[in-house]
Amino acid sequence: MRGLMQDHPLLVSSLIRHAARHHAHARITSVDAEGRVTRTSWPGIEHDAKRLAQALLRRGVRPGVRIATLAWNTAPHLALYYGVSGMGAVLHTVNPRLFPEQIAYILKDAEDTHLFVDPSVLPVLDGVKDQLPPGLRAVVLMGEAAAVPELPVEVLSMDALLAAEDGDVEWPALDEAAASSLCYTSGTTGMPKGVLYSHRSTLLHAMMAVSPDVFGFSARDVAMPVVPMFHVNAWGIPYAAAITGTSLVLPGPRLDPASLHGLFEAEGVTFSAGVPTIWTMLLQWLRAAPARRFTNPPRLVVGGTALPMPVTEGFRREYGVPIVHAWGMTEISPIGSTNSRQAGNADWDEARMLDYSRKQGRPQFGVDFRVRDDAGQEIAHDGVAFGELEVRGPWTARAYFNRATDPAFTDDGWFRTGDVVTVDALGAIEIVDRAKDVIKSGGEWISSITLENLALAHPDVQLAAAIPVRHPKWDERPLLLVVRKPGTDPSAQSILAVLEGHVAKWWMPDRVEFVDSLPLTATGKLWKAELKRLYRDYTLPA
Ligand code: ADP
Repeated sequence: MRGLMQDHPLLVSSLIRHAARHHAHARITSVDAEGRVTRTSWPGIEHDAKRLAQALLRRGVRPGVRIATLAWNTAPHLALYYGVSGMGAVLHTVNPRLFPEQIAYILKDAEDTHLFVDPSVLPVLDGVKDQLPPGLRAVVLMGEAAAVPELPVEVLSMDALLAAEDGDVEWPALDEAAASSLCYTSGTTGMPKGVLYSHRSTLLHAMMAVSPDVFGFSARDVAMPVVPMFHVNAWGIPYAAAITGTSLVLPGPRLDPASLHGLFEAEGVTFSAGVPTIWTMLLQWLRAAPARRFTNPPRLVVGGTALPMPVTEGFRREYGVPIVHAWGMTEISPIGSTNSRQAGNADWDEARMLDYSRKQGRPQFGVDFRVRDDAGQEIAHDGVAFGELEVRGPWTARAYFNRATDPAFTDDGWFRTGDVVTVDALGAIEIVDRAKDVIKSGGEWISSITLENLALAHPDVQLAAAIPVRHPKWDERPLLLVVRKPGTDPSAQSILAVLEGHVAKWWMPDRVEFVDSLPLTATGKLWKAELKRLYRDYTLPA
């Protein structure tokens, strides 16, 4: 017997339709590359999105066609989110910080027909103009541009495209299983692979994301996604905010601490999300002058790489800012787990909770976890045993775009994350390492992340990376690379002393090397593959 409920497809357009109709008073604030602030609203975004849909339709864009963006977090980008997906085309957000070869590769792989570019990103385009895909029909500038490089395709203006339309259309009724957006993994581990989200997966993920233990959005919130809109759809914030009618502050490319703090204060931001690097820099900036405080401390969601405990502690104790540690992946839309309090630790004191905040937390509804060891057996939930995390659910990928098969997908329908984790009695995971980054010493595994996090507890350590180097007896041994905080000169001994007692003796790094900087990927993560390449010939004495 079938239920007797109405059958409405879950469509991205239904989000903007709702927000525009019922949350006209929420503000959408946008900052461009020059720092100019513009203001619009959900109805304003819907009007632009509809005009954009009309313009694209007029240019022959049909459902399923890929439309690329090279842009920051701005209102025009938000209009593209809704206009492109709303009309049934596929929004392909490209990270401007990738190498030109990678940008060229993914534009070609996606077969984009139009490329929308923020004027400040034009120099990037200059670097790929000779490798543009053959099917690319036009580059569309999102705003005024002083100098446009010579390009082998037509160059249009988004403002002009919109100005020619009236926005007087209804959103089409699409199949909810249709593709809505495309995002490439940032290639921390090889060439980027495309993850093709559907309208259905995007909506279900957004409905989960607004819930109290994740973003906890309300109609009174002012959310500022610092995580870029080209990085897994800014973790779904542009969609989630439309569900609850939350105001948005889109900070553009200026993500330095002073600019961000200015926006927190001026716009009354109550919520923000981003990677640890951003918050670490903000914390250092705040500490540099006693007058730097939050009038109303916002809440933060942090993920993308492990969040160092001193950062959580600093924000919480010194500035009253609570941080929720989250874990996710491009392939999981991206939210998989969050570490907010639950019945099992509701009565823990602050010190114990702070220590616990290093964990990535428990899966959210809609995300099924399985952790298996090398032998394929599910591990004990004792917080000690570890294995590879596998995930399945309605917003987890089942394949990569343009790839028939990939070993990341198991025969029985799970996605292998490549993350090595423990699971504790409360069901929280802790990432021990990426399967590719664990240091294999004498057949046993050493967690590079644990060593790095411990090193960061040293007051003079700015950044640390633990990588494997060759050893004649143990195959691999840990080398700790350290960037000192400006104006400090810690000794290797003092750094090792911080680790001592917290890890087994055989986990202790064999050497500490001081470096001026560490290579980061386009998404701001330690670029381990590059480090391993740089230190390929580094050998330790027997
Ligand atoms: P890429 O694979 O290119 O780095 P993703 O953004 O999809 O791009 O990265 C997902 C990976 O980031 C995860 O598999 C995990 O290794 C890491 N990661 C994400 N969140 C956390 C976190 N809170 N703690 C530790 N690692 C994390």
